[in-house]
Amino acid sequence: MDAFRETGAYLKGHFQLTSGLHSSEYLQCALVLQHPQIAERLGRELAAHVPACDVVASPALGGLIIGHEVARALGCRFIFTERDANRKMSLRRGFDLRRGETAVVIEDVVTTGGSTREVIEVLQAAGARVLAAGSIIDRSGGRADLGVPRVALATLEAAAWEPGECPLCKQGIPVEKPGSRPAEPK
Ligand code: ZN
Repeated sequence: MDAFRETGAYLKGHFQLTSGLHSSEYLQCALVLQHPQIAERLGRELAAHVPACDVVASPALGGLIIGHEVARALGCRFIFTERDANRKMSLRRGFDLRRGETAVVIEDVVTTGGSTREVIEVLQAAGARVLAAGSIIDRSGGRADLGVPRVALATLEAAAWEPGECPLCKQGIPVEKPGSRPAEPK
């Protein structure tokens, strides 16, 4: 969290998260991970808490840098999933898994665990054995259930609300969408 505060990556305001929930706090991981030395250190720390595996996999874009650093620390290969034209998470670019290969899924931030869960399903469908999932930050307060053992370098109890129940919306405060997904057309 110190690394997040020092790099200005820990934002306060009114945000729409990638999960669609609203929150008064946002972690802009890209601002931490723009520093390769910090990314490498976080990757090493995360790698120390997950089992050895054949491959680390992450969802693009958010998981790319930290997943790559974890794979570097574990000495294994790194692949990523991305959404196809139908918004379905998939392995593209010729990435392949052999049946029975072991995998660990790495994300930057877990909020509901939705995208991590999608990556786990893609890997399992390809025949891999998913041993664990890890993230730099868990902002579900430890509640996100992914069906595999899970680790995070920091757990945050950050309030998040459905848009209809958001107290900041009720106060009329404009909402920001700081995530990586392209803005929806107006
Ligand atoms: Zn709101």
